[in-house]
Amino acid sequence: IWSCDTIDKATTFIRSMDTPICLSNYVSGELQLPSSASTTFINSVEPKTGAIFATLPCTQPSDVEEAIRQARTAFKTWSKTTRVERSGHLRRMSELLRAHRELFAVWESIDQGKTLERARIEVDRAISNFSYFSTYILHEQTAARMVDGVALTYEHRSPAGVFALISPWNMPLYLLTWKIAPCLAFGCTAVAKPSEVTSMSAYLLGVLFQKAGLPGGVVNIVLGDGPTTGQALVTSPLIDGVSFTGGTQTGIAIRQATAHQIRKHLSLELGGKNPTLVFADSMTSSKREATIRIAASAAFENQGEICLCGSRIYVERSVYGEFVLKFTEHVRKKYVLRETVGAVASLQHYNKIRGYLRQAASENATFHLGGVSDPQDKAGNQGYWIAPAILTDVARESVVQTDEIFGPVVTITPFENEEHAVELSNDSQYGLAAIVLTADGARMRRVGEQMEAGLVWVNCWLVRELGTPFGGMKNSGTGREGGDYSRDVFTVVRTLHLPA
Ligand code: NAD
Repeated sequence: IWSCDTIDKATTFIRSMDTPICLSNYVSGELQLPSSASTTFINSVEPKTGAIFATLPCTQPSDVEEAIRQARTAFKTWSKTTRVERSGHLRRMSELLRAHRELFAVWESIDQGKTLERARIEVDRAISNFSYFSTYILHEQTAARMVDGVALTYEHRSPAGVFALISPWNMPLYLLTWKIAPCLAFGCTAVAKPSEVTSMSAYLLGVLFQKAGLPGGVVNIVLGDGPTTGQALVTSPLIDGVSFTGGTQTGIAIRQATAHQIRKHLSLELGGKNPTLVFADSMTSSKREATIRIAASAAFENQGEICLCGSRIYVERSVYGEFVLKFTEHVRKKYVLRETVGAVASLQHYNKIRGYLRQAASENATFHLGGVSDPQDKAGNQGYWIAPAILTDVARESVVQTDEIFGPVVTITPFENEEHAVELSNDSQYGLAAIVLTADGARMRRVGEQMEAGLVWVNCWLVRELGTPFGGMKNSGTGREGGDYSRDVFTVVRTLHLPA
């Protein structure tokens, strides 16, 4: 077992892949294994082959506490740095990441199971996370105003402190840097924890932070599972705020575990079960192709392992039959296992998805593609593969319609009219995203504004500007991140009144 504590070693390792690599924490500027004698280790499995390629420590509470102490010490100086200095550090990170784009993409694809093409898109987004906030922080402004000619008032913001940044396994680098970049930009310091399922890119990020010469302790990365490492991190009284992305149940657990710590700011980005609405006017001969392409990519991009995927498709009755036929045809051609569809992230997740397929079969759903006996589905020493599944005739109250499956499984259901479409869409505990496909300009706004979702895409999907608010309604989360909204997460505000 050895470590790739330099980027060069990480490159060499991809070529050999014969010995599992040992990932370590990044604390106080050093790549190091936790010191606790009770540290256990977790295997990292390559979803495409089922092979163990790395092992990582499950960091115990005492080592988590030490990382937090390092972040607190670093906060004293980092919070006083100028925005120009912080911007420079972030720019350097974006440049270094760009210089190692392919390396990160290859590892991300090995670790998560995603296709290399998808991994490249996500590394590009991680580069943008650093470059966006390096520019944002230079241009951030505070407005002052006169109150009744008596006082001059302005908002004074200061860094909110030391943050726990916790991310899930579906877009490991993209989502962790989405938290680290603004956290640092606004003068906070961090202890970050990636998912134990996909820790490789976070580990390599530590190698890059070291190479970039970021002052020690500003970012610390601890590896480990949720119940041991994550729990110790979020509940520590030395943590001022938590930015968490992951499942709704974990979000609830974090909220409960920190309920007595009123001062602790929580930003929770949670699960989704997003609707795609297909109106008949989006299926005319000139629009049909684009409609099907958008609905399919929203369903199957990254094997459906994106929180924003549209996994409940609702189609206007008059074009329902045609849509099911053409959609299935398109998915059969375009979404090919191992080429445009990667492996699912883990054996546990494979079993979860297959459980929902079995449930659908037991409820007599119609499978137009994929299913419980699809010969392509396999788990074990050949990796974890699930063919795209397209289902109709699934009851509204079935768990297949109501639970977040988070895999390559989509249901298609007809609706009668606009009102019915809105009702079906909003009939969910979740409210993360919605996709509306229509050619009617007035309907775009009318339906879009009725969606109980934090993000609504009309005739497009996944387009995003990093300054816009990102987050969910209902059980999909609390708070928004992005641009000014990230500033609200990572700063505290006091209102000053000066004599006029
Ligand atoms: P998860 O909730 O199981 O784990 C997420 C992270 O939380 C991991 O790092 C895990 O180790 C950690 N964790 C688990 N228990 C914890 C605890 N008690 N205290 C602190 N940390 C703990 O989620 P997952 O299975 O890794 O990811 C899939 C989920 O993430 C899906 O529900 C998906 O929708 C959601 N997600 C949401 C968004 C969004 O922006 N809203 C983006 C991506 C993924």
